[in-house]
Amino acid sequence: MKIFKPYELKSMRFFNVTADFVEEVLDTIWFDRDVEEVETAKYCYRPLFIKGSCPLPNHKGDRASFYMENSRNTSEPACNTFGCVDCNEYHVSIYDLIQKVVNCSYEEAVKRFADYCNVEIHLSEEDE
Ligand SMILES: [Zn+2]
Repeated sequence: MKIFKPYELKSMRFFNVTADFVEEVLDTIWFDRDVEEVETAKYCYRPLFIKGSCPLPNHKGDRASFYMENSRNTSEPACNTFGCVDCNEYHVSIYDLIQKVVNCSYEEAVKRFADYCNVEIHLSEEDE
């Protein structure tokens, strides 16, 4: 069985499971999510962008200011990140998001997400 490194769970391959996790565990409601779009995006390298309700604890307001994206137009490996224009948070990883919402350690956040993805993780590896 493959043992993943934390950064690998931020790849496009985990886009849908990440969106599921954020919806089920962090209570975000996605407004414009198209699950099949991810499959298409894999082949045509379109950036993915979905909007939803913000799970961050200090969020105020109810417009769709929260988003998850995977933009493939940078030289760095594309990864899934979150942002909220009302909270002034950008390029937040799934692990940072979990830490902010449930107030836990990085290790705990990685464990929770890896468990949800049903994969084994090698935690001593430096992330990023
Ligand atoms: Zn927010």
